[in-house]
Amino acid sequence: MVRREGKDRLEGLQVPGYDIPDEVKGHVVITTLNRLYNWGRRNSIWPMMFGLACCAIEMIATAASRFDLARFGMEVMRPSPRQADVMIVSGTVTKRMMPLIVRLYNQMPLPKYVIAMGACASGGGPFKEGYNVISGVDKYIPVDVYIPGCPPTPEALLYGLMKLQQKIEKQSLKEVYLQKDEYIPEPVLGPDIMDPRDFPLIREYTMKKLEEMRESAVSSEQ
Ligand code: SF4
Repeated sequence: MVRREGKDRLEGLQVPGYDIPDEVKGHVVITTLNRLYNWGRRNSIWPMMFGLACCAIEMIATAASRFDLARFGMEVMRPSPRQADVMIVSGTVTKRMMPLIVRLYNQMPLPKYVIAMGACASGGGPFKEGYNVISGVDKYIPVDVYIPGCPPTPEALLYGLMKLQQKIEKQSLKEVYLQKDEYIPEPVLGPDIMDPRDFPLIREYTMKKLEEMRESAVSSEQ
């Protein structure tokens, strides 16, 4: 096992433009509160432990010894959404599953992130036209990183997680703490799945169609 030198461990923490004498490099850094806060967050992202289909096997492989998520401080997969920072949607999202994903997302504390892993979670994948499949999880919850592929390799997932780290690094303390936790209404599963946010539109469309049917029935009687 390669031991990381002190200066490598502190990588990303030092504000550029300040010279630190060689003899104390690795022990002393000059930084800002934002940088320190984000450095801690990006190196301890806890993913929620759940998988939906074949992509989940690749996610499991990423956590195993060959790829080793622990290098990024992300190996602590949480079985509870209340302790998770990132939801990795790994697999085909069916209409039956979507309300539960939204419920889990709502239960995660802020700041929270979502990764759409694979073609299915990103856009429906090979089952896009299927009667039972959601064509992209971003129709219901906000997605931060999309990982293409069917299935994406563990390396691709690692790359996606590194992209998430870059996004976290750019956030400010103010931005993170002042964001509002917006409750997303759970989709309703009926003959088809419905998004409660679309109810006014659905109502308007239904009333219009009913009116048209009534008019055509009256004109056919005359
Ligand atoms: S993207 Fe491919 S590998 Fe991933 S869940 Fe869909 S079908 Fe399976």
